[in-house]
Amino acid sequence: MDQRPLPAHVLFFPLPVQSHVNSMLKLAELLSLAGLHVTFLNSDNIHHCLLQYTDIQARFAHYPGFRFETISDGLPADHPRAGQRVFEMFDSMKAITKPLFEEMLISGRLSSDTRPPVTCVIADGILSFAIDAANEIGVMSIAFRLASACYNWTCFCIPKLIETGELPFKENDMDRLITCVPGMEGFLRHRDLPDFCRVDDLADSKFQRLTETHKTPRADALILNTFEQLEAPILSHIRSHCPKLYTIGPVHAHLKTRLAAETMTLSSSLSSKSNSLWEEDRSCVTWLDAQPLKSVIYVSFGSLAVFTRDQLMEFWYGLVNSKKLFLWVVRPDSVTGKDGEPQIPVELSEGTKERGYMVGWAPQEEVLAHPAVGGFLTHSGWNSTLESIVAGVPMICWPYFVDQQVNSRFVSDVWKLGLDMKDTCDRATVEKMVNDLMEVRQDEFNRSADMMAKIARRSVSQGGSSYCYLDRLIEDIRSTSLGAPSRKGKFGW
Ligand code: UDP
Repeated sequence: MDQRPLPAHVLFFPLPVQSHVNSMLKLAELLSLAGLHVTFLNSDNIHHCLLQYTDIQARFAHYPGFRFETISDGLPADHPRAGQRVFEMFDSMKAITKPLFEEMLISGRLSSDTRPPVTCVIADGILSFAIDAANEIGVMSIAFRLASACYNWTCFCIPKLIETGELPFKENDMDRLITCVPGMEGFLRHRDLPDFCRVDDLADSKFQRLTETHKTPRADALILNTFEQLEAPILSHIRSHCPKLYTIGPVHAHLKTRLAAETMTLSSSLSSKSNSLWEEDRSCVTWLDAQPLKSVIYVSFGSLAVFTRDQLMEFWYGLVNSKKLFLWVVRPDSVTGKDGEPQIPVELSEGTKERGYMVGWAPQEEVLAHPAVGGFLTHSGWNSTLESIVAGVPMICWPYFVDQQVNSRFVSDVWKLGLDMKDTCDRATVEKMVNDLMEVRQDEFNRSADMMAKIARRSVSQGGSSYCYLDRLIEDIRSTSLGAPSRKGKFGW
């Protein structure tokens, strides 16, 4: 009988939304670069968009061990998959995707004569059924949580918040400090808790659904897209519950570093390209090319946030009244209540013609790295936050939901990388914050942003903490597939 050990084969399964797919694809590419077999499972809907707007097919053809597979997310084709309705995906995936996934994994059809069986599943921490299925068939299971450590730790502490009576909120004092999230005692306020905690009744269906999906299932290990120096105190709290933790971020910068090194040795060109689900409008880069150094505020609220027409107008007035140059991404599906399209006031269209540029989707990493960009008005999604940190761009935070309320508090009060305008949306505040960030306090914010950018880049360079954690992850996946004792005990939160 052939006793040769199995080569490692990793199955990736992200929650099918832009940011999760983007980061997971980058980690999948990092593992492919290391020579592992990788299967990447996309929802049909996501895969269709990626094929339409990116070169993923050609890009991943560089890796002979890489394959895409697809699966239904259980939602009808015309479902918006954005705003608050994105949470409907949790239910549809449980009902429809879960049995399909189990069948796919258990049937063994992901292996063939030339492809070893799956030896490790790296699943989105939200998709606990995928981790359970990996445990069921006895392969290594790793939960990849795509939000910040500070958010994950806050979620971990929700039962304690309930136990001590902090939740549900009893009074309307949103500025009251929360005292029972260790490591955040001095600065975390009620308003900084995830938006789904803003309920009078804990039976609230969104609260129930989100707290449920934020319980990390029992896995062999946990991956976080962060770096040690950014979230060290919080990471040590997480490690006390979950010792097998790999911090390998910022993943987008990490991939760039390793691809650059590979390109030097292979003298072939490999580079990190877009994983966008929308068509990138590159004309904004040409527009940026014509603007002075650090003069433009880039405005984008990510792939899921939606806002009302009134909010749109307040941002618009604030930006125009600030008299600063601005590049604004307004996704075609991001404004609600558009019916009837009232006229855009002349002062806004004139102000935008003079100093602004609007696109439906931008090449964000490239935009943030552009020398003309001096600030970022963001919804504080974790990817956007990390991309801004790596580019050394200070932020104004307007958090929309889930992790963003916590992230924005850390950006403003812990890391001192910008300003937090959560729970306000009026033109005067927008105007004042843009001027504070881009002019009044520009030097102060630039100094701290530059410093953090250097630390972030060092963490993904050879010898840096994230670099070493990624090497260890690859080694552990390899040795587990070779039959090394993998499980000293699984842990979940
Ligand atoms: N993004 C982009 N172009 C845009 C807006 C966003 O490429 O015009 C990317 C951005 O670079 C980031 C992702 O979309 O990688 C958004 O992820 P994030 O975690 O910030 O927010 P989410 O979309 O999950 O709310």
